[in-house]
Amino acid sequence: MTPSRTVRKTPAKAGAKAGAKPVSLAEQPVTSLHGVGPALAEKLAKLDLRTVQDVLFHLPTRYEDRTRVVPIGSLRVGARAVIEGEIGLSETVRARRRMLLCHVSDGTGSITLRFFHFSNAQATALKRGKSIRCFGEIRKGYKGLEIVHPEYQLTAADSTDGGENHLTPVYPSTDGVQQGRLRALTRQALKELKGQGLKDWLPGELLDRTGYPVLRDAVTFLHRPPPDAALHKLEAGIHPAQQRLAFEELLAHHLSLRQIREKLRDDKALALKGGESMVQNFIAGLPFDLTGAQVRVLKEIQTDLSKGHPMLRLLQGDVGSGKTVVAAAAAMQATAAGTQVAVMAPTELLAEQHADSFRGWLSPLGIRVVLLTGRLKAAERREALAAVADGSAQVIIGTHALFQEHVQFARLAFVIVDEQHRFGVHQRLALRDKGVAFGTLPHQLVMTATPIPRTLAMTAYADLDCSTIDELPPRRRPVTTVAISEERRADVVARVRDACARGQQAYWVCPLIDESEALEAQAAEETAAALSDTLSDLSVGLVHGRMSASDKDAVMKSFKRGDVDLLVATTVIEVGVDVPNASLMIIENAERMGLAQLHQLRGRVGRGSVESNCVLMYKSPLSANARQRLGILRETNDGFKVARKDLELRGAGELLGTRQTGLMQMKIANLARDAELLPAVHDAATALLEDYPDRVAPLVRRWIGGADRYGQV
Ligand code: ADP
Ligand code: MG
Repeated sequence: MTPSRTVRKTPAKAGAKAGAKPVSLAEQPVTSLHGVGPALAEKLAKLDLRTVQDVLFHLPTRYEDRTRVVPIGSLRVGARAVIEGEIGLSETVRARRRMLLCHVSDGTGSITLRFFHFSNAQATALKRGKSIRCFGEIRKGYKGLEIVHPEYQLTAADSTDGGENHLTPVYPSTDGVQQGRLRALTRQALKELKGQGLKDWLPGELLDRTGYPVLRDAVTFLHRPPPDAALHKLEAGIHPAQQRLAFEELLAHHLSLRQIREKLRDDKALALKGGESMVQNFIAGLPFDLTGAQVRVLKEIQTDLSKGHPMLRLLQGDVGSGKTVVAAAAAMQATAAGTQVAVMAPTELLAEQHADSFRGWLSPLGIRVVLLTGRLKAAERREALAAVADGSAQVIIGTHALFQEHVQFARLAFVIVDEQHRFGVHQRLALRDKGVAFGTLPHQLVMTATPIPRTLAMTAYADLDCSTIDELPPRRRPVTTVAISEERRADVVARVRDACARGQQAYWVCPLIDESEALEAQAAEETAAALSDTLSDLSVGLVHGRMSASDKDAVMKSFKRGDVDLLVATTVIEVGVDVPNASLMIIENAERMGLAQLHQLRGRVGRGSVESNCVLMYKSPLSANARQRLGILRETNDGFKVARKDLELRGAGELLGTRQTGLMQMKIANLARDAELLPAVHDAATALLEDYPDRVAPLVRRWIGGADRYGQV
C-alpha cells in the first residue's frame, strides 16, 4: 500500500547507472534505488543507510498483521486494522482547517477517512464508487468511526485478493522518512538480494551445526514474514532468522574488539621490572593481609607490566573488595622502574580520596603523589604541572581533565582508570596518546566496581584482559536491606536515632534530580535542615556537588573522624567513600535509581565490624520494574548477581555506560537476551580468524558501518 501522502515515482536512473553498476550490494549506494535522490539520501544517512546492504540490514522493530481484512461492522476502537469498501461520499470541508473526508462502507458498516494533508490529485482520485483498501488506527469520531490519515490503496472493484500476503514490517525511522518509503526501499533491496545475493560470511560448518537459515533467507523472512510466521517469536527476538543475524552481529563486534587487541600486541611499552621486592615490603607493612584474590590479580598485573607490550587489563571487583590497594601496589612497580603513573577518577571527590589513600600508603616510602584537579589554585596548579613535567611527581591523580588539558608527563608509563564504566572506549583509546612521545604506549589498568558478567565482558571488553577480585576482605558482614514506603519516614528517622545512639554513623542520600545539580543541592540542604531539627541531639553534616572542594573535604573529614553522626548527601558519595564506622544507609527515592547505583551506595556501609543496614525509601505506588529492582537488592549482596539482573532489566548500554558512545548500540542483538550465544560467538571468532581471515574485515564493516567510530586504532 502507498502511504496517504502520495509517493511520486522518480524516473528510474537505471539508464545512467547500468554500465557502472558496482558488483556488491555492500558497495551499491542507496541512490541506485528508485526514488532516492540527494534529499532522501541525506535523510537515510541519518539512519546509517548508505548502501543497499545497509537497507537490507535495517530490520523492522515490529510487524502488523494486515493479512486479514476486517468487516467495518466489527471494528473496534483503538485497533489497527485493514478494511476494504466502496467510497460513498467524498468531500472537502473547511472547519478550522481544510480537510478531506471520505466515507467508506462495505455492507457491514461505514467509516470516515479524514485527511488534513492531501493533494488535489488525491482528492480527485478518492471519488464516489471507487473501491479502496485502507489501514490505520480506528478512532471514534464525531459521527461514528474514523481513521485519520490511513495508508490506502485503490483496488479493482472485483478484487478478491484480500489483505497483504505477508506481515507488514514497521521500521525504525527518522523525521521525513515514512514507513511506506522504507517498505518501498526494502522491497527493491530484496529484489536485488534475490538477484545478486549477499555474501554469507558465516562458515557453512557453523550453519550446519546451528541450523541457522542462510543469510539471504533470514533477511528476506524478516522484511516480509509470511502470514503464518510465529509473531510472538519475532516480537521476542528469538526467531531463528533473528538469532542468526544477532549471532553475526555479536560476532562482528567481538571481532572488531579482538582486532584492536591484536594491534596492541604490536605496540611497544616500557617493561616495568625490578620493583618486586619493594612491592613485597609494602604489602608486608599493611595493617591487613591481602585476600587470596587480591594476591592473584596483583600477580597478573605485575606480570603484564613487566612485558614490553602495553597491558590493557580490566580489574573488576565488588564494592569494598579492595581494588585501591592493589592499584597502589601496581603503581609502585612502575615508580620503582623510574616512570610515572597517572590515576584517573570519575569525580573530583574521588580523586581527592584516592590521593589521600595513595599518599597514606606511598609517601612513607618516599614516593611523591600529586593531586591535579581543576580546583587547585593557580600557583598550586603551576607547581603541580611543573612537577609532572620534570618527573619529580611520580603518581599523578586527577579526573579525566588529566588527559584533556595541557598536561605534559615526563615519563608516563602506566595509566590507572577507576570506575571504568563511566568512561567510554573513546577515552580509553585517547589515553594511549599520552605516552607516545617517547615511542611507547602506557600500560592501562581499568577498574570497575560494577562487575560485568563474564559473557558480556567477552564481547564488550574483548579488547581487554580481565582480572576479577571475587572475594571480600574477611569479617565483612553482609548488609541487610529493606524497602520502606516514604509514608513511614518517621520510623526511618527513628532508626537513624537508634543507630547513632549506639555510637554508629549513618548516611542519608537525597533524591536524584534529573540533570540538575542545583535542585539536587537544594533538596539536600532542606533535608539536612529538617533532619537536624528532628534529631537535635545529633550532629548532621551535608555534602553536595555544589559545595567547594574544601568545604566538602572538611565535612567528609569530620564524618571520617566521627564528629558528624549523620551525613546528608547527594549521590556524590556514590563511589569510593570509605568510613568503616558508618553502618546505616538511607536512600530516598530509591525507586528512581538504577540497580548498580543502589548497590554502589549500599557498599558505603558494611565496611566495619558491626551489622549494617540499608533502607531503600520509595514513593508509592511502585512500578513493576521498580518493585523487581528493590526486591533484588533485598535478596542479594552479591555485586555480580546484581549486575546480571541490571543487565536483564536495563540492557547492556546502560550497564556499561557507553550508550552515548554508541559502542554497544546493536541493531539486532540484545546482550541480555542473547547472552547465551556469546560462548559460541567467541569460538566462531577464533575459527574465522584462523580459517577465513579475509572474511573478518567485510563482516565487521557490514555491522559496524562507520568502523572509524571505534574499530580502528
Ligand atoms: P573498592 O574495591 O570498593 O575500591 P577499597 O579499595 O576502597 O574497595 O577498599 C575498601 C576498604 O577495605 C579500604 O578501607 C581498604 O583499605 C580495605 N581493605 C582492602 N583490602 C583489604 C584486606 N585484604 N583486608 C582488610 N581490609 C582491606
Ligand atoms: Mg574504589
